[in-house]
Amino acid sequence: MPSVLDNAMSLVCRTADFLDFQRRFHGLEIVERLRVPDKVIMFRATVQLDEGGVRVYQCYRIQHSDILGCYKGGIRFHPDVDLDEVKALALWMSLKTSLVGIPYGGAKGGITVDPKTLSVTELERLVRKYTSRLVNDIGPNIDIPAPDMGTGAREMAWIYDEYRKYRDVARGVVTGKPVALGGSLGRKEATGRGVVCAMLEAVNDLGLQDYRVAVQGFGNVGSHAALDLFERGIKVVAVSDITGAVCNPGGLNIPAMIKHRDRTGGIYGFADAQPIAMEELIAFDCEVLLPCAKENALTADNAGAVRAKLVAEGANGPTTPEADAILVKNGVLVVPDILANAGGVIVSYFEWVQNREGFYWEEADVNQRLFIRLKSAYARVRDFSTQRKISLREAAYCLALEKIVQAMVDRGVQ
Ligand code: NAD
Repeated sequence: MPSVLDNAMSLVCRTADFLDFQRRFHGLEIVERLRVPDKVIMFRATVQLDEGGVRVYQCYRIQHSDILGCYKGGIRFHPDVDLDEVKALALWMSLKTSLVGIPYGGAKGGITVDPKTLSVTELERLVRKYTSRLVNDIGPNIDIPAPDMGTGAREMAWIYDEYRKYRDVARGVVTGKPVALGGSLGRKEATGRGVVCAMLEAVNDLGLQDYRVAVQGFGNVGSHAALDLFERGIKVVAVSDITGAVCNPGGLNIPAMIKHRDRTGGIYGFADAQPIAMEELIAFDCEVLLPCAKENALTADNAGAVRAKLVAEGANGPTTPEADAILVKNGVLVVPDILANAGGVIVSYFEWVQNREGFYWEEADVNQRLFIRLKSAYARVRDFSTQRKISLREAAYCLALEKIVQAMVDRGVQ
């Protein structure tokens, strides 16, 4: 089975052909420059356990490209993290920041760990170890980490605090921090809100009315998207997470579900809903599907069963190329990850700007600026896809890559 990096690169190669890079930039090895990251950092972190003994963890930071600005990207804590996955995630960050027009390149970090197997103190030691090893590679003008799966404001606070032991106090060294430490209002909710914003643009294009939504994944992205939908009066009829899946054709009570998850650790056992099999979520009877969990949620095996007319990708890489082709053939509109989930990095950029200015914005300002950027990126992608008769994903890759490659050439290609 191809890795997520193979999947990401296959579309980069197809886009390079479509945009005729080989002829236009003959001899400049554009695709190789995109395939091979600027810098790959891999190291071991050994953590002392509370009860004595140690555990050893594999850590990564991949700096894919700083062509358009300093490196930027989240840190993932998950047992499946490996080199290929982090490389793919870093490449997608470069594409995402280019597409939505923020002055960053792309990076990603990760540790192969299930954070649930560590106590809070052990986790803190791991995060501090990770940070201290990266102190020469990150910084507010070098590479700026942020949350991803398995990490959040708490971990960003530890990174910020550890970094300041070695360097000047620099709030902009990480984004997604707690508000008290210079985090932006609206950052925590930004990715989910952005998914809904992009989804609403597509709903409008399709002319959908009285539609129902199913959400896969109920972590940062999925739960904030579901809550935003609930607050807008849009029915969320099915939700899944790693603990199970539930549905309520009349609409789930999302605030109550969030309370249940916070109390119990997952959505399993949520009252006022019927349990369904995890696999049923993808094929659930609804008009809109939001995959907000992990890569490869939609594959050749299940994409044909999707009943939704619209898929907006909250997760990174949730659709394999084979599944994408099936969805396109079946007339399902897909809003690709590098557009649909860009709300997080957009508000991370706002956080960094606020840290530099020392002037903090109201949440309404943050949201308004987020929606303006996302809507304009969506319109550019939609218009390009219409003009060139290609999918939204292909159009998004074209716009993102054209800008990166032009900047590469403008800077001199050594
Ligand atoms: P998270 O760790 O907060 O939540 C992940 C959720 O997915 C959890 O509810 C987990 O139970 C669920 N999940 C895991 N495996 C599942 C499965 N097989 N079936 C159903 N649910 C499953 O992570 P997150 O920050 O919400 O990130 C989710 C996705 O969004 C990732 O692909 C991440 O890269 C992407 N993303 C996150 C951000 C951000 O700001 N956090 C920004 C852009 C993209």
